[in-house]
Amino acid sequence: MEEASNFIEQIINEELESGKFASRGNEICTRFPPEPNGYLHIGHAKSLCINFGIKEKYHGKCNLRMDDTNPSKETMEYVQSIMDSLQWLGFTWDNLFFASDYYDKIYECAEKLILDGNAYVCDLSAEEISATRGTLTEPGKESPYRNRSVEENLALFRDMRAGKFADGEKVLRAKIDMASPNINMRDPVIYRVAHVSHYRTGDKWCIYPMYDFAHPISDAIEGITHSICTLEFEDHRPLYDWVVRKCGFAEPLPRQIEFARLNVTNTVMSKRYLKRLVDEGKVHGWDDPRMPTLAGLKNRGVPPMAIRDFCTRIGVAKANSECELSYFDACVRDYLNAHAERAMAVLNPLKVTISNYEGAGEDAVINRNPTDPDAGTRNIAFGKHLYIDSDDFALVPPPKYKRLVKGGVVRLNGAYIIRCDDVVLDEAGKVVELICSYIPESRSGNDKSGVKAKGTIHWVNADTCVDAVIKQYQPLLRDADYPGQDFGERMNYDSEKILYGKAEPYLAEVAEGSSFQLMRVGYYKTCRDEGKLCLSEIVSLKDNFNNKK
Ligand code: ATP
Ligand code: MG
Repeated sequence: MEEASNFIEQIINEELESGKFASRGNEICTRFPPEPNGYLHIGHAKSLCINFGIKEKYHGKCNLRMDDTNPSKETMEYVQSIMDSLQWLGFTWDNLFFASDYYDKIYECAEKLILDGNAYVCDLSAEEISATRGTLTEPGKESPYRNRSVEENLALFRDMRAGKFADGEKVLRAKIDMASPNINMRDPVIYRVAHVSHYRTGDKWCIYPMYDFAHPISDAIEGITHSICTLEFEDHRPLYDWVVRKCGFAEPLPRQIEFARLNVTNTVMSKRYLKRLVDEGKVHGWDDPRMPTLAGLKNRGVPPMAIRDFCTRIGVAKANSECELSYFDACVRDYLNAHAERAMAVLNPLKVTISNYEGAGEDAVINRNPTDPDAGTRNIAFGKHLYIDSDDFALVPPPKYKRLVKGGVVRLNGAYIIRCDDVVLDEAGKVVELICSYIPESRSGNDKSGVKAKGTIHWVNADTCVDAVIKQYQPLLRDADYPGQDFGERMNYDSEKILYGKAEPYLAEVAEGSSFQLMRVGYYKTCRDEGKLCLSEIVSLKDNFNNKK
């Protein structure tokens, strides 16, 4: 038996040992059941990793099921985006199903419940139903329609289907127990009238099953063994079990298991809210690089494997908690550190002239990836005219400053040690150019100069570099000022920053969408913006966000 890596797999192991699934050749089957009412987010990735992780571990199956029983909010665009995100993460579903394909079967189940005396048509309004449901300490009140005859219920339910009633006029309720300590068991509504077109079934139906009814039936139809969902559904489990039993499905029945959803600090994690950001124009779309959607993370340049690593590292627990956004960033950084090539770009260019340099060859060399001995090196042309980052020079250096100062030395990454001989200021006293000399014997990898430079900085060759639009991002949400503060009040309107820098020409030659570590800056993705090179931040090199707090 495979070793369990979380409590869900432990349950599966125990069940397999007990012979529960022997009749089906011990085949384990899970499903990922999104409602196509928005794009998937990083929280869904956790659920995907759990469900597809079980499929892989037990050589079972995992279905992708569109849980589309809420006709007013669902669209084919969302269906497509969900499939794209799964493919991007590298998950292959065994079957693509739609709950809406089961409407006939679900309807039959409802008639069976009526025939068995387990469901009744109720004329109470939604308000009345909610007012008679009781509380945690008081039982509910039975509906005056609870004891209708089977014949009357069947006729009324068929009339509901035939469109004889307006929205809300009648509902079908499961007949369970109005005194149950679990409010979900107090005759829950299982079908409602809704004269709404569905994006797949059109106007075929004017009654739609409720989630708590459609979901267990869909699981049972597909032969799902483990129906894994988030903790909010724990109190719905008795109803889930009731539905699959009373509808007469055969053993082994699907089993619902709940786990703690993923919450991340400074991150909105709900399709409904994310849709609001898109609809209100607070972001450029569902795939805005600041969005926690999988489409957004893809556009941001986050590698799919980094997301899967993150999900593995956070694990699967039974208690809700909040994960620090910086932890996610650290996972992305770790992955890119091992996989991304190195290059140089300067965000705030400061001109440097090397007065004694007359060479012209590719005499600077950098490791493509120092963490990977097989990655090799890349040559870069040093030059008489360079740019360094203006932060890497200080006219009045703070204590322990290791970068360039007037009269001081610094190493240019992969190239030579330079000394700053003179500083050119503009009328306002701002540094506009450094006049430097280089030490020819100090070439990187073959330094015979004996000169000690405390710092190493990045640079680009001013004669060959290209202009780059640099985009940096901050979280969309600021910290909450008080618990439960609405995200609308927490928007960080300063979450996108644009800089105009200079980049090595190499960055303009590589394929669009390549990820790089811009040395000493961060991980960036290359793209084109109206023909111009754009470097879009994936994750900073340092944990800027936490440091700023
Ligand atoms: P949302 O509120 O974002 O729409 P949802 O739970 O309604 O989330 P569904 O489309 O119904 O979204 O979810 C599909 C699956 O993903 C469900 O099994 C659900 O439990 C799981 N899921 C959704 N959000 C998270 C999360 N934050 N962490 C882990 N799993 C999640
Ligand atoms: Mg939902």
